[in-house]
Amino acid sequence: MRCLYCDKPIEKYTLYSFLLEPDELCIECRKKLKVKHRYLDLGEFKVESFFEYDSLFKSLLLQYKECGDEALKKVFLYELKSYLDIRYFGYKMIMVPSSKIKLQSRGFDHLEGIFEDVKLQKVKGLRMKEELCQEGKKFFERAKMADNYVYEGEKLAKVLIVDDMVTTGSSLRGVYRAMALHAGKIKVLSLAYKNYTLQS
Ligand SMILES: [Zn+2]
Repeated sequence: MRCLYCDKPIEKYTLYSFLLEPDELCIECRKKLKVKHRYLDLGEFKVESFFEYDSLFKSLLLQYKECGDEALKKVFLYELKSYLDIRYFGYKMIMVPSSKIKLQSRGFDHLEGIFEDVKLQKVKGLRMKEELCQEGKKFFERAKMADNYVYEGEKLAKVLIVDDMVTTGSSLRGVYRAMALHAGKIKVLSLAYKNYTLQS
């Protein structure tokens, strides 16, 4: 097997990768993709997050998400899946939806792939009111994102909102507000974080 990032053959193993689950990154690349656990304070709520959006994380995510390299989907939550199953036991999971245009051009839902092996039950019913593009958005559009989601599913006692990236937090804020009308307890998770000033 070869490392999905650097393409060198995988010859060394950790005890975990040898006994429990083979890693698709080599030991050197896995070391570089270090988990740097943070809770980001967005005021209304906190976001649990695992990775700094550095150049390695960025290239992995873009390669997976925008270049359609689906083999990478298991790389992100490697060793973190069981943690999530335990930490959020009893929670149902809802993913921040991508715009329809993005979904069509990618041909797959990148968050579904990343969270596929997490055992928490996944819930649907969240959508964007308007198809606003996420990238390169201006301030007024970001502000709009915070009011751009609607949830039309069942009532939920406990829900975990998940996304891949938190930058300004505008999408997460929007989803949080939409879910607050329909859920008892809400927790929020983002794989990676970009804005250091949000750290707490
Ligand atoms: Zn490698």
